[in-house]
Amino acid sequence: MMLSSLAPTTTKKGVPLVFHEPHVETGFRTPHQPWSYYVYSLFQKHNECMNCWTHLVGLCLALSRAVDFAHNHRMLGDPHMWPLTAGLITMVLMYLCSTTAHCFSNRSELVHYTAFMIDYAGIGLFGVGSVILHHHYCHDDAWVNSWLQTNAVLVGMILGVIVCFCCSVSKVIYKRPYPIARKIWQVSSVVAIYTWLSLPILLRLYQYAAIGVWHSSLDHHIQQMIWFAVAGFFFGSDIPQRFFPGKFDFVGHSHQIFHLCIIMVTEKQLDGITHELERLSPKFANMALPTFWNSIVIIHFHVAQCNPPHVS
Ligand SMILES: [Zn+2]
Repeated sequence: MMLSSLAPTTTKKGVPLVFHEPHVETGFRTPHQPWSYYVYSLFQKHNECMNCWTHLVGLCLALSRAVDFAHNHRMLGDPHMWPLTAGLITMVLMYLCSTTAHCFSNRSELVHYTAFMIDYAGIGLFGVGSVILHHHYCHDDAWVNSWLQTNAVLVGMILGVIVCFCCSVSKVIYKRPYPIARKIWQVSSVVAIYTWLSLPILLRLYQYAAIGVWHSSLDHHIQQMIWFAVAGFFFGSDIPQRFFPGKFDFVGHSHQIFHLCIIMVTEKQLDGITHELERLSPKFANMALPTFWNSIVIIHFHVAQCNPPHVS
C-alpha cells in the first residue's frame, strides 16, 4: 500500500461519536480499513499520529535503558536484579500497549474499546512494576522486612487491577461527551497506586525533613514526581486545545504533552533507580533475596488478570 493511496482523513462529522475527542475537529482516520492501513498511517498526518510516535520514542528509550542496565548487571542471573527486570518489562509493555491503542483505535468501535482496555492494562501493569521497583530499591534500611515491604507487591497488584478495572468500566458506562465522573474514576485509581508506589520515597523525604538524611537518588525521584504532576495536569485539563478548538489536532494536543511527560517520568524513575543501585549494592550481600514470584511471575499474573476480551 502506497502512502499516497491511503484513505484521506476526515472531520469529526465523518466518524462515529465514539471516535470524537474534545476540541479536536479534523484529522480523523477512516474507520473499517484493513489493519495495514492503520500501520501505514503512522506516516500519515492525522490526529493520533503524534500520540503513536511519542510513545514509540518512549518505547525505544526504555529499550535502550534496558540494554544499558543489561551491560552493567546480570539482569536474570542476579536475583537482586529481578525487580529491575520486572520493572523494565512493565515499562516496555506500557509503551507498547499505548502505541498499539493509539495506532488501531479508529478501526472500529469494538477495536477502539479493546485497544484502550489494552492501554489501561498497560498502565496498571506499569503501576505494579513501579511498586516492585520502588519498594525494593528505594526503601530505607529501617523498613526491611516491615509490613510495608512484605505486602507491597500484593497491595500493588490489587491496585493495578483496580486501575485497569476503573478505567475500562468508566470507558464503557459513559458515552461521549464524557462527564467529569469518568475522569474521577480514572484519576482516583491512578492516584491510589501512584501514592502506594511512591510511599518509600515519601518516607525517605520525611526522614530527610526529620533528620536530614539525603541521597542523590532523591533528586531524581523528586523530578519524577514533578513530571508526574505535570502529566496529570495536561491529562485532566485539555489545555491548550480547549482554548483553540481545532488548532492542535495534529501537534501540540494535551494528550501528546501528557505522553512526553510520561517519558520524562520513566527516564527520571530509571535515573533514580540507577542511583539507588549504587547506594544499595554494597548492602546486597546482607539483604534478603527477592523472590522470582514477587518480581517476574507477578507481572505475568497481572497480565492474565487484566487480559481484555478477544477482538474478532
Ligand atoms: Zn495515550
